[in-house]
Amino acid sequence: MSDYILRATAANGSVRLFVADTRQTVQQAFEYHNTSPVMSAALGRALTAVAIMGSMLKSEKDLVTIQIKGDGPGGGLTVTSNSLSEVKGYVNNPIVDLPLKPNGKLDVQAALGFGTLTVIMDLGMKEPYIGNIPLVSGEIAEDITYYFAKSEQTPSAVALGVLVDRDYSIKEAGGFVIQMMPDAEDEIITALEEKLKTVEPVTTMLEKGMTPEDILNVLVGEWQPKILDKVPVNYVCNCSRERVEKALIAIGKKEIAKIIEEDGKASLHCHFCNKDYDFSKDDLERLLTL
Ligand SMILES: [Zn+2]
Repeated sequence: MSDYILRATAANGSVRLFVADTRQTVQQAFEYHNTSPVMSAALGRALTAVAIMGSMLKSEKDLVTIQIKGDGPGGGLTVTSNSLSEVKGYVNNPIVDLPLKPNGKLDVQAALGFGTLTVIMDLGMKEPYIGNIPLVSGEIAEDITYYFAKSEQTPSAVALGVLVDRDYSIKEAGGFVIQMMPDAEDEIITALEEKLKTVEPVTTMLEKGMTPEDILNVLVGEWQPKILDKVPVNYVCNCSRERVEKALIAIGKKEIAKIIEEDGKASLHCHFCNKDYDFSKDDLERLLTL
């Protein structure tokens, strides 16, 4: 089955939920970037978070980007989603090998280190909205929780998980976001907090074959969950030779002439899908005539 986000409410709409299965999307990211397990986990968690945030966008052309910059060996990452939860992303250093944490989990915190998390919302205004927070944990879910509280004043619970198989492929990936609307009753909030302490990690539930629908029931089954819709999630890189040509033309004819003189060719790289676009001398000279 393909990846999707289940959007739902519970407790008469006072709680909203997003439950995602993103295994194929994270697998695609792994195939593009050849990430080591800990960086697959970092990238996969961030892609899952940004896909969910993408599904919260209101207008079709809106975009959301999460950037993490840290002083760990992974350096950081960039992920982006449109309102259709078409995502793409990359990590600064895909090959980071670190010992597992004492609990046997991949040490994403150590890979990213200390730094900042930036959320850029491009909502079609003149200027994008930019929210910046210091990394509070570097495990990403806690950082996104902090972001929602600090920048959007929305109390949230966020869980993100990636399970990497022995052959480094992605065995499971997914997550959920639960948000309290202003009319959520204290009783519900407290009960939900207690409930979350007992809930298994998302990848454990997915590994048991549970669907986002099943996970939704585990989370809020007793508070009349209502499914609103299912949003497909896909890894989509929209780069093309045409777009890269446009970018080259945008640097100016003078610069292109300089490249022809100095290197005789150019190669442009797409960070999101690792594709190289090569331009021969003839290609570049043709651009000069446009
Ligand atoms: Zn690309």
